Amino acid sequence: MTPTVENTASFAVPPTWLTGSCPQWCQSSHEESHTYPDRVHWSAEACVPMSAAPGDTAAPGRSLLDEYDPDEVRVYLTQHYRECGPRIEVGRTDEPVRIALTPAEANQLADALRFMVGLATAAVAGRPAAPAAGDGALVEITVGADGFLDPDVARKAVRSVAGDDRPAYVLVRGHLDRPGGYDVSAAAREIGSALWAARDIHVLASGPGAAAFGAAIRHHAEDERKFRAASE
Ligand SMILES: [Zn+2]
Repeated sequence: MTPTVENTASFAVPPTWLTGSCPQWCQSSHEESHTYPDRVHWSAEACVPMSAAPGDTAAPGRSLLDEYDPDEVRVYLTQHYRECGPRIEVGRTDEPVRIALTPAEANQLADALRFMVGLATAAVAGRPAAPAAGDGALVEITVGADGFLDPDVARKAVRSVAGDDRPAYVLVRGHLDRPGGYDVSAAAREIGSALWAARDIHVLASGPGAAAFGAAIRHHAEDERKFRAASE
């Protein structure tokens, strides 16, 4: 099968190393002389100017004096010719920023970006920011440096979204890896159980313990969903 690439004459005769066809999104000009690491399918790029980027940092290889040529964030697909699927990569001007996502993860990021746009837009308009701002239910949890999570604050946050069937966003700040006054795994159980109806659960957290906390929330939501389905 002829690779579907229009922008190169080199495809009159495909390189011998390219034994399969290109993905339909590929825009690369593959050359016979390309060595193994260069045998990569690239898509076209979507570019977004970053006019809000901090003024005191320039992308690697660029000067702060390039002020009339603002940084861009670039999004594109890439796939080595021996890989089974594409990843979505994010770049900044000419440099990759080491953000590479599967299509499912990129979808989550797109949801998270859309949700944040909702929050930001609501804040600008002076309306209460959450949970009605974005297209989702928001739970905000802050865990103290001592690992302490105020149970009343946690329960109040959880109560406001219980049974909500929109996508849920759990924003966690703080220290999830330290035992504190309120057991973090108990918090995950309460939050997860309340989010049984959520269409999708996004845990926006970082740092030690964040991944396990997110996984525990999803696990408890699934348990609660099954429990409710069984008792219907
Ligand atoms: Zn290709």
